[in-house]
Amino acid sequence: MNERPICPKCDHDKVVKSGVVGGRQRYKCKSCSYHFTVNKIGKSIDKYYVVKALQLYIEGISYREIERILGVSHVSVMNWVRQYKIKAPENYDYRPTYKVLNHTELVKFLANKENLTETGMLITELGDKFMIIKWERFRNR
Ligand SMILES: [Zn+2]
Repeated sequence: MNERPICPKCDHDKVVKSGVVGGRQRYKCKSCSYHFTVNKIGKSIDKYYVVKALQLYIEGISYREIERILGVSHVSVMNWVRQYKIKAPENYDYRPTYKVLNHTELVKFLANKENLTETGMLITELGDKFMIIKWERFRNR
């Protein structure tokens, strides 16, 4: 596999390997000469977060919120959106909200019928926890 990261500084994908530092692959950006390292073991984890981030993006969650939820920088998310040519449909009727819960909290949450009424919901695994994305229709006032 010859997978190259994108420069975190200028978003360029023209990067070259530039040695290994502390077990991490170091890269140099050919465009801006910025050096950065990538976790060697991080690859499968990265892919996992790429998919999660893109899911959230499509659901209408902002870059900054995705950064908060997943702990990946909003710049990375923007790169992935660009790299995979993702377009989120415009959505004015529903606003997504989310919660990150552990299993016990999730069970408790679902046990309350009120939490399941008048809403759409998606539960997705997130590391050792679970994330609930809910959609509630904007209330006309
Ligand atoms: Zn660069």
